[in-house]
Amino acid sequence: MPIYEYECAKCGERFELRRSISDRDDDVKCPECNDKHPRRLCSMFGTVMASRSEFSTAGPT
Ligand SMILES: [Zn+2]
Repeated sequence: MPIYEYECAKCGERFELRRSISDRDDDVKCPECNDKHPRRLCSMFGTVMASRSEFSTAGPT
């Protein structure tokens, strides 16, 4: 599942969500201010590598 990066237009918070392609624009909320219309940035698969430690517990399959 790809990771999408969003930026909140209201408070400027940037956050990432892992969602299916069909859900990428569905019900996204800013974790900081709960604004419901954060801007979706380009999907950045490189971000997966940068924050890989978050997922390290998953291990290889
Ligand atoms: Zn916000």
